[in-house]
Amino acid sequence: MSVIGYDIGNVSCYTAIARQGGIETVANEFSDRNTPAIVSLTTKERAIGSAAKSQIVSNYKNTISNFKRLIGRPFEDEYVQNLIPTLPYKVVKVPSTGGAGVQVLYCGEQTVFSIEQVFGMLLTKLKTIAEVNLKKPVQDCVVSVPSFYTDTERRSLYSATRIAGLNCLRLFNDTTAVALAYGIYKQDLPVPEEKPRIVVFVDIGHSAMQVAAVAFNKGKLKVLGTTFDPYLGGRDFDRIMVEHFATEFKGKYRIDVKTNKRAELRLFTECEKLKKQLSSNSGNMTLNIECLMDDKDVRGSMNRSDFEELCSSLIKRVEVPLQQILVDCKLKNEDIYAVEIIGGATRMPFVKQTIHKVFKKEASTTLNADEAVARGCALQCA
Ligand code: ATP
Ligand code: MG
Repeated sequence: MSVIGYDIGNVSCYTAIARQGGIETVANEFSDRNTPAIVSLTTKERAIGSAAKSQIVSNYKNTISNFKRLIGRPFEDEYVQNLIPTLPYKVVKVPSTGGAGVQVLYCGEQTVFSIEQVFGMLLTKLKTIAEVNLKKPVQDCVVSVPSFYTDTERRSLYSATRIAGLNCLRLFNDTTAVALAYGIYKQDLPVPEEKPRIVVFVDIGHSAMQVAAVAFNKGKLKVLGTTFDPYLGGRDFDRIMVEHFATEFKGKYRIDVKTNKRAELRLFTECEKLKKQLSSNSGNMTLNIECLMDDKDVRGSMNRSDFEELCSSLIKRVEVPLQQILVDCKLKNEDIYAVEIIGGATRMPFVKQTIHKVFKKEASTTLNADEAVARGCALQCA
């Protein structure tokens, strides 16, 4: 029986399979190893993953994304309440659990699904991806969760795996999974009697930042501590850019994208693209959107230093969990062998600069930034 490792991200999910030859991250029906965490409900069917991505703007009221952080929290929770206005779909309270659910038009009827059910749909898709690759049914899996998830969040995610017909052997902390993926093939780790090798892992994804300090000896790893900012991820940078251009376009083109969901969502997508371009280019990059609103074509531009100035409050926050890990684990810079980065948002150049400032070393990129968590989960049971 094969065990599957899943990294369920706020935007990207990866499926890894442990085979005799090693660990393999497998692709979905679009030959993409990254399956977006999106569920789109239509009058006839559900589209999940890559197939749902194209519906983000056209069917925004019934396309559920960004839902990882809604699970296992009461509807009244402050974070849930703050998140709701940023989501294009309707979030409602599920009376039986008190948690959040989504109200969508599905097969011609207004239907409420709990977040666990939405997760269940996503996990069903990920189960199928593994089954198609293995050409046999799968059940057993290990699923990653943020290290800061509470018991309730963990229990809710576990229920979602049951809804998908999966048998979740373990919920594995993201950071531990990454440490396992790092340590397993390292041949030169100190023997158990020697001083361990200490590595710091920094993961900044779409919705959260997590840091862990881990001590390695041959065949053994010990998590010394974890720190995090559960509310800081790539999407927060996109949001600031959207606000910036929304204000600029109000003056320049006399349009208010905040009054038009489709226009706002299109601007979001373009701002994310611009943010990624600014990771590899420091000069002026342009943003062009045709017919954004009221038949108006818009154009904006930004360079990396404008971006970093605009997002300076978020950039400052990245330093906090990095400093905290040194304090919590009583580590000095010279105790640390390497600082490994993973997660999409660590591609922003200021992250490497901040790591250098705090740890006085270059960030290492030994691991596959996108797939390390899923691989670690698959390794857990290999
Ligand atoms: P989480 O771990 O918070 O649940 P996730 O695992 O789904 O989220 P990742 O796939 O690690 O998130 O990262 C996605 C984020 O990384 C997005 O916000 C995306 O815009 C950002 N990102 C990806 N590539 C780049 C890049 N080249 N430059 C800047 N940001 C990037
Ligand atoms: Mg992640």
